[in-house]
Amino acid sequence: MEDITTMNRTYMKIGLIAVLMLSIAIPQVSAEDGAKNIILLIGDGMGFAQVTAARVYEAGPDGCLNMDTLDYSGYMSTHSQNSLVTDSAAAGTALACGKKTDNRIISQSPDGEEYETILEAARDNGKATGIVSTARITHATPAVFGAHSSSRYNWDDIAKDYLQQTKPDLLLGGGLRYWLDDTETGSHRTYENLLEQGLSEAEALADDGLIDDAVAEGYTIVYNQSELDALDMNAEERVLGLFSLSHMSYEFERDGTDEPHIAHMTEKALELLENDPDGLFLMVEGARIDHAGHANNITLNVHDTVAFDEAVRVALEFAETHPGTLVIVTADHECGGLSVEYPFESFPAEGEYIQDLDNESEYRDGIWTSGSHTAVDVPVMASGPFASLLTGRLDNTGIFDVMEEAMIPSNDTATELSAEVIPAISITVETSALDFGTVGAGLHSDALQITIVNTGTHDVNVTAEAWADQNNFYATALRLNGGTVDGFSEGIPADITDFEYAEDVAASLEVPEWAGGEYDGTVLFVAEGV
Ligand SMILES: [Zn+2]
Repeated sequence: MEDITTMNRTYMKIGLIAVLMLSIAIPQVSAEDGAKNIILLIGDGMGFAQVTAARVYEAGPDGCLNMDTLDYSGYMSTHSQNSLVTDSAAAGTALACGKKTDNRIISQSPDGEEYETILEAARDNGKATGIVSTARITHATPAVFGAHSSSRYNWDDIAKDYLQQTKPDLLLGGGLRYWLDDTETGSHRTYENLLEQGLSEAEALADDGLIDDAVAEGYTIVYNQSELDALDMNAEERVLGLFSLSHMSYEFERDGTDEPHIAHMTEKALELLENDPDGLFLMVEGARIDHAGHANNITLNVHDTVAFDEAVRVALEFAETHPGTLVIVTADHECGGLSVEYPFESFPAEGEYIQDLDNESEYRDGIWTSGSHTAVDVPVMASGPFASLLTGRLDNTGIFDVMEEAMIPSNDTATELSAEVIPAISITVETSALDFGTVGAGLHSDALQITIVNTGTHDVNVTAEAWADQNNFYATALRLNGGTVDGFSEGIPADITDFEYAEDVAASLEVPEWAGGEYDGTVLFVAEGV
């Protein structure tokens, strides 16, 4: 008998612990609240060195870019299915769909199976959707969110997917030449080009561009910043902005154009999309960081990274006034193999970094090691609901998973420890969390109720201990049925019909004079058979 009792007690102590999380003065956002809004900002070709160079130039070595201020950060591998070094199509597919594919392919498998994009998932969940890019809007990175194609160079297929399949509420970027009828200046839709895009001879002859198709789908079309600003975003249904024939201008070379800044496009996009009560998904691409990397031009590169960072500021300001907004900043891959050096044995003053490099061709040429993409990891920064999942070592397929989980949280909130076999000793704590609100030092809180249920077949005695208890706060302050945590001992009989005998325990705080600030903690309830 003696032996069996000892064994039982050991078993019971190991197996029968129920946990009650405690918190005070912290408004808890529960996981199931999810993200109403998701803003994903992609610096194309923006590796760690590009971020460092932009920071040194814009804010100084000790300064902070807007993207440096997000709450969580990690680093991400970018390889594609068939190459250690990815292109923007495969990298974008991983970000948009959570699946690897071969280089050049837009959001489908190498054998043609279409992958659902996060933009399509958002749309199907009733959210407003938008794509902003400083590249041609049919370029690889925007395309992976709103199109499916065997090749990133199928620009006609991609544009038609936007209009006929995905229908984002907003598209802002460059690339007007792919939409204009051949009779208009600058059009790229020549008979020969359309045949190359897979159109039949009859289709190519009959083609009159895609502008009228966009209008038929409800898009209001604007061609410059003045027209964009003239729109009443509360009255528009869909907006298509095509601000340049090909890519939009580099930030450093945009003077004299009427092209909107990337930050301005982001602002206007949010103005339109926020009208949807179900929330929004917006992708913003700083595309020309990559092009400056291919060109090994540090001036263009830094200025476009700084401009992209201004779009991050707009997103963060939106998140501040719109709780429930997940903001993610990342890159699809690095480009140029950039390093950050300085020609003098001193720190550059704010703004001097790239001017000095430009005057020292030896250094300027030496800081790039490639004219193309590289396989090095890229940064990930995130704030908002579910952002805490984006830390440490990540892969580019993981961004989609977090966005999808944030948008459509799985429903796993129940506090059940039920089993098919009714165990001898079993308790559950029905109260999974207690928030005591705000209580002054030296005062006591209102009494809250913890319901402990004996769900086993034996009578039990339950004791408690404070755990993960910062500064011993709860061990000192918490009162269970009037006594301290350590002194708690409560017999709970078994209900051998329903196996659900509930016992209420009064919980309150007597806050010591020394306490101040916020305290999270946990109480373990330990059941032993009697
Ligand atoms: Zn590139």
